[in-house]
Amino acid sequence: MLPQAALQDLERALGPRAVLARAQDLTLYEYDGSIEKSKPECVVFPRTTSEVVAAVKTARAYDLPLVGRGAGTGLSGGVIPRAGGLMIAFSRMNKILEIDYENECAVVQPGVVNLDITRAVQGNGYYYAPDPSSQKACTIGGNVAENAGGPHTLIYGVTTNHVLGIEAVLPDGSVIRVGGKEFDRPGYDLVGLLTGSEGTMALVTQVIVRLMRSPEAVKTLLAIYERPEDAAATVGDLTARAVTPAAVEMLDGVMLRMVEEATHAGYPLDAGAVLLIELEGLRETVEEQLALVNEVCLANRAREVRAAQSEEERALLWKGRKNAFGAVGRVSPTYYVQDGVVPRTRIADTLQHIYKVSEKYDLQISNIFHAGDGNMHPIILFDPDDPEQTARTKKAGEEILKYCVQAGGAITGEHGVGMEKNELMPLLFTDDSLETMERLMRIFNPDGRLNPGKLLPTGKGCMEIRLPPAHYRSTEW
Ligand SMILES: Cc1cc2nc3c(=O)[nH]c(=O)nc-3n(C[C@H](O)[C@H](O)[C@H](O)COP(=O)(O)OP(=O)(O)OC[C@H]3O[C@@H](n4cnc5c(N)ncnc54)[C@H](O)[C@@H]3O)c2cc1C
Repeated sequence: MLPQAALQDLERALGPRAVLARAQDLTLYEYDGSIEKSKPECVVFPRTTSEVVAAVKTARAYDLPLVGRGAGTGLSGGVIPRAGGLMIAFSRMNKILEIDYENECAVVQPGVVNLDITRAVQGNGYYYAPDPSSQKACTIGGNVAENAGGPHTLIYGVTTNHVLGIEAVLPDGSVIRVGGKEFDRPGYDLVGLLTGSEGTMALVTQVIVRLMRSPEAVKTLLAIYERPEDAAATVGDLTARAVTPAAVEMLDGVMLRMVEEATHAGYPLDAGAVLLIELEGLRETVEEQLALVNEVCLANRAREVRAAQSEEERALLWKGRKNAFGAVGRVSPTYYVQDGVVPRTRIADTLQHIYKVSEKYDLQISNIFHAGDGNMHPIILFDPDDPEQTARTKKAGEEILKYCVQAGGAITGEHGVGMEKNELMPLLFTDDSLETMERLMRIFNPDGRLNPGKLLPTGKGCMEIRLPPAHYRSTEW
């Protein structure tokens, strides 16, 4: 229960219009894109770093758990205040503070929406490369916390490769600034450490992001297959032929039909799978690669390869991909998105396993994923009002993730561990490794009040997971 005095202190420091504490207002902040729920006791909306510091100091004074919130599009329950307490929502810290073309970077507040950076600089031939499919809504603070990926991170890397500096508030109210506009600084790489720390170490209040120059040429292809395994084989073959497309996305037959009916992107309704392949770079290189990609797709039994002939056609193909989750929502209002990652050479058998899990648990599972990264996203449709089906859904998800680990992969490719998969961490890490991570987290967050119960296993009620069969544990790099 939030003490009245804490509420008054917050209202004094941030103003009454920046504080929510009524039950009906808090309902909006009890969930994200995952399937868990828990309400905060209070939400504040700071506009500046000093207001964040004031809120954090109040939380400290009243021993309240704390969690930072971006847009709430997270898919692993990272933002859910499972211990209640104070939520710091960054939606009003949404300014691009500086665009520095000479140094090819921008300084932004954490609540800036990902796509807004590209919108602000594209007129000058620049863009911000990490493009999660949620980029119209998700924020840079959330992207940094989750080390977000996206279709185009295949060639340019994920968020950590595009963050040069971070300003952050620690749970004791101190402010740190790490990194900067230059490419390398001495000392420990705290920018790298904080990026992907899932809001458990610090609250990010400013970010210096790298800007990239827009490529000279872009070509987008749709390769259509009868069988998903042929599409999967194409992905590995492309790398073997030394082609790294900017993006390789895959949709299986079930997904294709849902997406096409909702978006009319021009995807075939009768195919087993499609690959959406994008090439970018210098005009001559792209033309050369286009011919090679065409050849590799056909050699892997693509029944047709279509190249977008105009910017409109290209945008339409991407519209299908980027609005896919909404398309699933038309068929089933609730679904569970998984996020395992496997080596590219294991995509085909992992897909087969997913289809077997679908049959075993009698659940509809569709697949849309970043195939170039081996980052699988099986989407399990279920009815949350049916507890037995919900339990089956969670079991099916866990079985798929365990298969990914056995295949030499991991339990998350980009959505983070959050509270959804923290008890599965021992499948990947030894006790010594997990203890080292915990010690590191405690340097920043000594009493664990910042985003408690996330990322690291709590060890509650999961002995079978705490003591995994030896073959699950990845001991090799
Ligand atoms: C339709 C859809 C498509 C998606 N596609 C992708 C994709 O292609 N790639 C991908 O990587 N993800 C994807 N996601 C997942 C999600 O969008 C990302 O994880 C994103 O980075 C979350 O950003 P957010 O602003 O919504 O953060 P939130 O969900 O609000 O928070 C996520 C985590 O970040 C922490 N956090 C937020 N702001 C701060 C801050 N300022 N300081 C410290 N911690 C903070 C929170 O505490 C929480 O732990 C998708 C989600 C949806 C719904």
